[in-house]
Amino acid sequence: MNIHEYQGKEILRQYGVSVPDGQVAYTVEEAVEAAKSLGTEVTVVKAQIHAGGRGKAGGVKVAKNLDEVRTYAEEILGKTLITHQTGPLGKEVKRLLIEEGCDIKKEYYVGLVLDRATDGVVLMASEEGGTEIEEVAEKTPEKIFKEYIDPVVGLSAYQARRIAFNINIPTALVNKAVKFMTGLYTAFIEKDCSIAEINPLVVTGAGDVMALDAKLNFDDNALYRHKDIVDFRDFDEEDPKEIEASKYDLSYISLDGNIGCMVNGAGLAMATMDIIKHYNGDPANFLDVGGGATEEKVKEAFKIILSDQNVKGIFVNIFGGIMKCDIIATGVVGAARELGLDVPLVVRLEGTNVDLGKQILKESGLNITAAESMADGAEKIVALVG
Ligand code: ADP
Ligand code: MG
Repeated sequence: MNIHEYQGKEILRQYGVSVPDGQVAYTVEEAVEAAKSLGTEVTVVKAQIHAGGRGKAGGVKVAKNLDEVRTYAEEILGKTLITHQTGPLGKEVKRLLIEEGCDIKKEYYVGLVLDRATDGVVLMASEEGGTEIEEVAEKTPEKIFKEYIDPVVGLSAYQARRIAFNINIPTALVNKAVKFMTGLYTAFIEKDCSIAEINPLVVTGAGDVMALDAKLNFDDNALYRHKDIVDFRDFDEEDPKEIEASKYDLSYISLDGNIGCMVNGAGLAMATMDIIKHYNGDPANFLDVGGGATEEKVKEAFKIILSDQNVKGIFVNIFGGIMKCDIIATGVVGAARELGLDVPLVVRLEGTNVDLGKQILKESGLNITAAESMADGAEKIVALVG
């Protein structure tokens, strides 16, 4: 799960990581009020979307007085920002962070990520802050320093100090930088983050070490123990189909293709996407209805697939183990009747109650193409979609 910058900064504050003062605003009036109450000489108006690269896209503006705060708030709120992380359609700005302007001496990069190669958390840092770290990694990889963190010991002070020296934090501020990184690491572990990226971390004119930006991502599987983070969820930032799917506990991920897939089991779902690709088709989604899905759940899953305008055909690929084929068939028929089915549907059923399932489909009167195997089904749906 992803959260906004201002929410990330709220969390960091709890861990003693220094961040500028700021307030969230949903309207232009709130933005001006927030700037008034901050009472700082310079105020920064920042678009809050779940994507980086806002600065370059005009989503971060420095205001020297309240009139400018108003002008920038009017300009940014409601605007669709297109950054290198939003995709071509961009994201509409519905919230702003009104923040204390910072006297930046220098910008750095500090990030904590999970490293699958070492099965641990790695602290990464660079002197080249403020820019895209991917670019630094590609062009000047020697400017990125890493410390692998022992999960039992945690981030040691000497490691944080070594990073601070490597990225040339002024000597007088190294202790502050160490405190910063230690706080960031504690937040990362206690909140079950998958990423905590500060770009830029800055050294200020007054000699502070601060997070000017904050990107925190969380492990969805640990959210049950972090109600405070779940409360940060912003549904405007999510695909409505995925929100609907999560209500029914369906594992659904929307993709770019045009063949809707309904499958049980994550492994079979992956294999189904592969075989569609193999026959030169493109899956519109990943969907695992789960092992013991009810008829209602199957119906909802089918509705979600049908609600995708890009879907030009559907492939149902079920291996009935715990899941019974007749439950799937009844759910599919029910949803197709309720919503009308105007795209080709190919069904491959195998396993428990397969004959009953096939009979239900056959007697439904719906235009369903039966498939004998997974490959046969994939080939058929790709041909039907054309
Ligand atoms: P993004 O990464 O989405 O572009 P950032 O929050 O990193 O957004 O902001 C982009 C740039 O704007 C920063 O690198 C920094 O130079 C400047 N900036 C951001 N916040 C402030 C602030 N509070 N005071 C001064 N400058 C800021
Ligand atoms: Mg940034």
